[in-house]
Amino acid sequence: MKKILVANRGEIALRVMKTARKMGIKVVAIYSEADRNAPHVRFADEAICIGPAPSKDSYLLGDKIIAVAQSLQVDGIHPGYGFLSENAGFAKAVTEAGITFIGPGPSAIEVMGSKLAAKEAVKAYGIPMVPGVDEAIEDIPKAKAVAAEIGYPILIKASAGGGGKGMRIVEQESEFEDQMQRAISEAVSAFGDGSVFIEKYIGSPRHIEIQVLADQHGNTFHLFERECSIQRRHQKVVEEAPSAVLTPEVRNAMGEAAVKVAQACDYVGAGTVEFLIDEDLNFYFLEMNTRLQVEHPVTELITGLDLVEQQIRVARGEVLSFQQEDLAMNGHAVELRIYAEDPMDNFLPSIGTLTRYRSPEGEGIRLDSGYEEGMEIPIHYDPMIAKLVTYAEDRPAAIQKMKEVIDAFELEGIASTLPFGRFVVEHEAFTSGKFDTHFVKHYFQAENIKESQKEEASVAAALAAQLLAEHQRQLQVPTIPSSDWRQKR
Ligand code: ADP
Repeated sequence: MKKILVANRGEIALRVMKTARKMGIKVVAIYSEADRNAPHVRFADEAICIGPAPSKDSYLLGDKIIAVAQSLQVDGIHPGYGFLSENAGFAKAVTEAGITFIGPGPSAIEVMGSKLAAKEAVKAYGIPMVPGVDEAIEDIPKAKAVAAEIGYPILIKASAGGGGKGMRIVEQESEFEDQMQRAISEAVSAFGDGSVFIEKYIGSPRHIEIQVLADQHGNTFHLFERECSIQRRHQKVVEEAPSAVLTPEVRNAMGEAAVKVAQACDYVGAGTVEFLIDEDLNFYFLEMNTRLQVEHPVTELITGLDLVEQQIRVARGEVLSFQQEDLAMNGHAVELRIYAEDPMDNFLPSIGTLTRYRSPEGEGIRLDSGYEEGMEIPIHYDPMIAKLVTYAEDRPAAIQKMKEVIDAFELEGIASTLPFGRFVVEHEAFTSGKFDTHFVKHYFQAENIKESQKEEASVAAALAAQLLAEHQRQLQVPTIPSSDWRQKR
C-alpha cells in the first residue's frame, strides 16, 4: 500500500494520516469547503475539496470520494469513524473499484449495523444477551406480554440505532404505545428504518467494551476492555482502560465472548464489541461497532499497539504478529472527549472561534486534536474538538495527571466539556470506581461547575490580593521628596 485516502475530517483524519506516514505511506485528504484550512488538509500530501460544508454534500459522497481516489491512484481508503465508516455499500463499492477498504467486509458491516441481525448472528455462540425480544415488534399486545414477563422498566430500541437515538425507556405498561411511537418516529427520521425491539432496562449498568483485532487468516484476538460508562445522552464523554471493576475472570470471559462475536460475522480488522455489565458483573452483549472507535487511544496506551497500524497491516493481508497470550495490559489511561458543548447548559453545542487553545505537553499526555487556535468550530459536524488522554502507571496517577492537565489547559472562545471532565475525575464516585451510566444524572448539575469556578475565582482573587500586598510592600521604599528628584535630574 503506497497511498491511502482518509475519507474523514478532524482529529481522526489527522490521527490516521500520522500513522500511515510513519509507515512510509502517502496520504490524501478530502475536505469540505468549511474545512479548507483544517490541519488534516495541511498535513496531507495531496488534498481534494469534495464539496460544500453539509456532510451529505461532501464527506458522505461515497461515489465522488471513490472517483477522487481512483484519479489519484490511491490503493487504500480508511473511513475513520462516523460518516461512511459503517456503510456496507461504500465498503463494497471501494473494493469493486479495485481499492482496499481498510476495515471489515461489507457483510460484517451489514450484519452488525442492525442490532437485531447482530443478535441473530451471535445467538448460536452462547453470548449472554439482555433479556427481551430479538425481533422487530409488529404485534403490540404480544410485545406488551413479553414486557410484562421481563418486568418494567423496559427499553424500546431502534434496530438501526446509533448515537443513542431511537431509544425510549418505558416505566409502566400505560406508556408503552406512546413511547413506542416516539421511538419509531425517531428511528425513521434518523435511520430511515422504523424497526424497534424491547430489552430489559438494566437499572445500574456499566458500559464496558472489548477491542478486537482479526486478520484475514483466521486469527482473532481481543485487546482487553474500555470502561465507557460516563455518558451524557447515552453517549460517552470519559473513557478509561482498564476498567476499575473487572476481575481477571470476567475480563477473560468477556474477551472470549467478544472474539466469538467477531468470528460470528467473519470479522476482519479492528472492531469493538459492546457490553452492559450489571452490579454483579454479569455481562450482556449490546452491539458490535465495525470500525475504529473514538476511544481507541486508551487501548493503544495500555497495550502499546498502534491500532491504525494494525488495521493497515491486516488490510494488506499480513498475519497478526502476536498471539493472545503475548498481549498484556500495562498502566492506566483515561480519555476525556473535549466537545464544543456547554456542560452548564445541558451539553448544548457551543459554536464560535477557539480564541485560545493550548494544551500542556509532556510525558503521559496525548492530545488527538483536529483544531488549532484561531479556528472556528463548524456547526455542520460532530462537536468534538479533541481527545485528551493521560497515561500513568496506575489509575490514581492517570486521574491525577488528567486533573493537572485540565487545570493547565487553555481553551477560550467557546464552552467545552473540560470543566465537566474536571468534575468527573475528582468526584468520589469516579475515583472509587463505583459508578454506572447514570453518573451525570445522579451527580452532575451545572451548579457543580459554577461552584468550582467560583472557588477557583475566589482562590484567584485571594492570590491576586496576596500578590498585590507583596507588590505594595516592595513599593514601600523610602519616598524621595519631589524636589530631590528634580535636583537629581
Ligand atoms: P447506540 O448504538 O445508540 O449507541 P447502544 O445499544 O450502544 O446504542 O447503547 C448506548 C447506551 O444506552 C449504553 O451505553 C447504555 O448507557 C444505554 N443502554 C443501552 N441498552 C440498555 C439497557 N438494556 N439497559 C440500560 N441501559 C441501556
